[in-house]
Formats: sequence, structure tokens, C-alpha cells
Amino acid sequence: MSVQVAAPAVELKELSGPMDKAAGPPCEPVTAHPPGHGVAAAPCPLPAAEREAAPASSSSSSSSTSSGGGERPPLSGCPGLSAAAGLPPGAAKVPQASAMKRSDPHHPQHRHRDGGDSGGPAAEALVSPDGTVTEAPRTVKKIQFADQKQEFNKRPTKIGRRSLSRSISQSSTDSYSSAASYTDSSDDETSPRDKQQKNSKGSSDFCVKNIKQAEFGRREIEIAEQEMPALMALRKRAQGEKPLAGAKIVGCTHITAQTAVLMETLGALGAQCRWAACNIYSTLNEVAAALAESGFPVFAWKGESEDDFWWCIDRCVNVEGWQPNMILDDGGDLTHWIYKKYPNMFKKIKGIVEESVTGVHRLYQLSKAGKLCVPAMNVNDSVTKQKFDNLYCCRESILDGLKRTTDMMFGGKQVVVCGYGEVGKGCCAALKAMGSIVYVTEIDPICALQACMDGFRLVKLNEVIRQVDIVITCTGNKNVVTREHLDRMKNSCIVCNMGHSNTEIDVASLRTPELTWERVRSQVDHVIWPDGKRIVLLAEGRLLNLSCSTVPTFVLSITATTQALALIELYNAPEGRYKQDVYLLPKKMDEYVASLHLPTFDAHLTELTDEQAKYLGLNKNGPFKPNYYSSQSNRSLPDKFSQFEPGFGV
Ligand code: NAD
Repeated sequence: MSVQVAAPAVELKELSGPMDKAAGPPCEPVTAHPPGHGVAAAPCPLPAAEREAAPASSSSSSSSTSSGGGERPPLSGCPGLSAAAGLPPGAAKVPQASAMKRSDPHHPQHRHRDGGDSGGPAAEALVSPDGTVTEAPRTVKKIQFADQKQEFNKRPTKIGRRSLSRSISQSSTDSYSSAASYTDSSDDETSPRDKQQKNSKGSSDFCVKNIKQAEFGRREIEIAEQEMPALMALRKRAQGEKPLAGAKIVGCTHITAQTAVLMETLGALGAQCRWAACNIYSTLNEVAAALAESGFPVFAWKGESEDDFWWCIDRCVNVEGWQPNMILDDGGDLTHWIYKKYPNMFKKIKGIVEESVTGVHRLYQLSKAGKLCVPAMNVNDSVTKQKFDNLYCCRESILDGLKRTTDMMFGGKQVVVCGYGEVGKGCCAALKAMGSIVYVTEIDPICALQACMDGFRLVKLNEVIRQVDIVITCTGNKNVVTREHLDRMKNSCIVCNMGHSNTEIDVASLRTPELTWERVRSQVDHVIWPDGKRIVLLAEGRLLNLSCSTVPTFVLSITATTQALALIELYNAPEGRYKQDVYLLPKKMDEYVASLHLPTFDAHLTELTDEQAKYLGLNKNGPFKPNYYSSQSNRSLPDKFSQFEPGFGV
């Protein structure tokens, strides 16, 4: 199985306004590549001369599409990013298809292009370009739960209650919200499901902890907007056009201020959204309230039970008169629910955008089994996600997580970081900068060599376990730190995990009678051995930064922009453009996302001269890297290396 790289169906052009600092000439269409086959280096279907010529051609060349899934959509009348979308120098061309076909699932394509619903008018939350959110007239929706009695507990107020055959995904319970809900009232034990709440416009099409917290949430959202320049730039474009007009997006992501900015941007671009949380702990109640107050049907609160979790998802999709035509998922639970409960919905769904490693794996499994019945975009493996979310997010937040939980000083401390992938690199860089002595463990000789050349001592965990002050896991693997390691650690050693799931440290092995657990702070446990030795376990081995600190909004802005563009792309793609398969966003769009963030730094991008472009065999306007540039040498995305294709302007 190989990975398909999408070519955009949308045209990216100039942005007006302050974002223009990095903008370049308007984009021009590019001839498409048809999908290649197999796992070897894909032969470019165009002769070399044509490959070089094609990207530079004018919009008329867009019609010279090649056959198959790689065909370019007609650009005229494209409802996507056209009127004012900005591109930096070198990012003004629309990339062409470079799809590499893998085993075809042979499934009928169920997409309906009209995107319309049979039902009546649905609630519509609109965000005006200045950020004001208004609620369009709506009909009150009567929501039925055909099998509610079988599926949902009546009063599921206890976290952890399991009433469903399939348990919640691990990622849905792995991370906690970092930012504390400062308006949360601990004495309010009533389940939001048992409350009758209305927003100021009289709508009750939401379920949040407390709608009265909306004002606080709005402030959080406004703060996040300051650090999300690309989404705000996309909103500006909404003045002229609505590339998501008619889109009915059902989302399941962490409900934070950053997500709110994304949702309101999608609203500004014309979409209707209904949203649930992808994690039972991570919802910021105030933000959920602010969204509900603005007319977004949000079903989420911090501390949902598992039963609540599925109930909230169901409330998003099981609505009379409203059917989603796009899915934005983080972890795959929403997608799973629709597959399980409402498979017919896929007849109207144009595509899935998935953010997480876990969700992407599930999509590939579905695809492999021939069960994926709509196109899906793998946002997780976009360069802009991998290189920024994993690396920079962790570089910024590792110290924060450690500091908040332990108040420790880093200078001179001995730290071992397990795994030198993107997350490990970020952690090591931050700790080294603070004066820590950093050791690295790795299984991959390439990453190991990188660690060495970056100045870190590569060791086996056993070699340093007795002497280190901090152990950090970032491998995505399991049982990297075993009970044997834990037994040998020195007194007061801090143990934590930055990987996705809580499998990296064998925490279960610490739950034995001879060891005493002492909760010393929220998310901080002392585990005490009979001889008095204690280790400091953070977040019970769950993701440290998401559990105990905040993550930088600017980094989330990059991921959120990628998600928005993936939605726009899938929604506007002409019939047949994407098959029932998993696609990576084209490199061009990755570059576009990056370009939208450059003005924040007053960055000045160098433009290739014609001569230089010819010399390098690149289109002056990008993409500047081959598609395999997005691959991590050691990640487990199926057959990633089959993405290879020449770095011409494709
Ligand atoms: P990666 O694949 O780039 O890096 C993981 C590294 O761990 C690889 O180099 C691999 O060779 C190494 N490794 C695997 N098993 C090992 C072992 N037993 N001992 C030592 N090294 C081992 O992945 P990444 O992007 O760095 O992500 C790592 C984990 O962090 C994933 O689970 C990912 O989902 C998660 N993640 C966390 C955050 C966060 O904010 N905390 C952000 C992004 C990703």
C-alpha cells in the first residue's frame, strides 16, 4: 500500500491586507499528474521537458490534465480559495496531482456533490469578517435517539462508566486539559445532560457545562486569535467568498480556544458546524459555552463519562433535518461512530480530515480492508504538522510541564530522553538550552547518529538509569521504561512521558502492594519503595505537556490552518477527483500554510530567479521539496517511501 498525495482542487491566490508581506504573485494552475501505481519511485507521467514546462504554464494549462484521479479540476468557477488567498513568493502555483495509487478498495463512491440536505433549514453559525459571530435563523431541531435506551445511560455522571460495546479510544482518555477552567464550580455536580440551558438567542441545541461561562470563554478565544494569524487571514477572505458555503462539518477535536478559532473560521468561510470533544478531559468549559452562545451546536464538557462521550458525538450527527457532509476528526472516534451507527450518512459525506496518528492508522486499516467509502486527508503527516506540532510544540512545552509540576531547576540536571524523533529532538533542544546534561536512547541508527551529531550522548537506558534526575519518553512505543528501570532509579528521579499514549512507561507495574502511592499535587504522584526511595511520576505516565501545561497557540494555528485547507480542498474537489482513499495534502498546501504564518515574524522570503529555478529543476513558485520530504524515516505510516517523485514543479 502506498500513500496518495493530493493535488489541490482549489486555487490559492493573493491575500489582501497585512498578510501580504510574504505574498507573491497570484497562483496559476498547473498540469496534473495522474496517479502512479505501486510502491517504487513513481514515474512521472510527463516527459521531463514537459514537467519543467508545465508548472510555469498559464492557467490554460490547467485543462491539459492527465487521466485518472490526478486530473485537475477546471479552475474557473472553483469555489475554493480564489478571490483573495495569498501566497508567498514561490508558493503561488497550485500543485498538481502526484497521487500514487495503492491497492484500490473497489468500493462504490457514495459522494453526493450537491451537499444539500433533504431536511429543512438548519442552524447556521456565521462569523462576520470582523470576528463577530451571529446566528442565522434556524428551525428548532427535534433530535431523536432511536436506540438511546440501549446505548446511553440515563444519568451517566461518573467518569469511567462503560456502557458501550466498544470502549473509547485510548487517546480520548489519555490526555487531560492543561488549561484550568477558572470558572468551573466544583460543587456543580449536575450532569450537563440533566440541565435545561438556552443561549441568549433562545437556542438549546448544545450541551455544555454552563452557558453562563460564555463571556470568559470569549476572552480566551480572543486571546487565541492573536496567535492564529493564518486563520484570521482566511477569515478576511470570507468577505468576498465562502469556499465552505453549504458545508456541514461535524467535528470531534479537543475543544479549546484554538479549536474555537478554527470553528469560527470555518463558520466565516460558510460552513455549518456541529462539534463534540475528542477527549473526555480536554474541553475548556468556558470556551464550549462561548461557542454555544455564538450559535455553534457544541456538545462537550470537561470530565465527561465515556457514556457522555458517545452521547455527545451522537448529538452532533443524529439530528433531524441536518446531515454532515464533511468530517473533521481527531482520533477516529467520530468516524468510527458514523461507520457503526449511521453508515448511510457516508452517501452525503464528501470527505474526512483526520489529525491524529491513531485516527490515521484507523483510516489506513479501513482502506486496506476496502471499507473506506469516502476520501480522507491525513493531516497528521503533513510537514506542517510533523515539523511544527511535534518538534516546536514539544520544545516549548516540555519545560513548562516539568516546571509546573515539580518547580525544578534544569541547569546541571542529568536527563535521559528516550527516542530522538521530532518530539525527542524538541525536548532535548529545550533541556540542553537550559544547561541540562542530556542523554538520548534510540533504536534507529539514523536518529541515533543525529543525536550524536547534535551533541548528545547516545546510551542504553540501563547505562544511565541509576544516575539521571529525569527520564522522558518520546518514542510512541510501549514499555520503554520497565519496572526494572523504575526499581533502579535514584531517589527523587522524575519520570514522565511526552509520547501519545500512556504505554511508554510501565505504570501498571508500579501498582503493587509493596509500593506506596502518594498524590502530592494534581498530576504528581510519589511512588515510594519500602526502603524509602521515591520516584516522582508525572501525569500517571500520560502525555506531560497536554496534561500539565499549555501548548503554544501559534503551533496549533499551523495545524488548524492545515485542517481548514484540507476541508476546503476536499469539499471543493470535483466529483471523482479523490477516490475512497487516504491522501496527504499536497506539498504546495503545506508551503501555503507556512507562508501564511511568515508575516508574524516579518520574514522576507527569497525568490528564485528564473535561472536558479531552471538550474534546480524547480518551479519558481514551489513546491520546493519533493513529497517524501514530509516523511519521517522511522514513522510507521504505511509505505511512506513510495511517495517518491521528482522534485520538479509538480
Ligand atoms: P517519531 O517516530 O519521529 O520518533 C519516535 C522515535 O522513537 C523514533 O526515532 C524511534 O526510532 C524511537 N524509538 C522507538 N522505540 C524506541 C525505544 N524502545 N527506545 C528508544 N527509542 C525508540 O515520532 P515523534 O513525532 O517524535 O512522536 C513521538 C510520540 O510523541 C508519538 O507517540 C506521538 O504521537 C507523540 N506526540 C506527542 C506530542 C506532544 O505534544 N506531546 C506532539 C506530537 C506527537
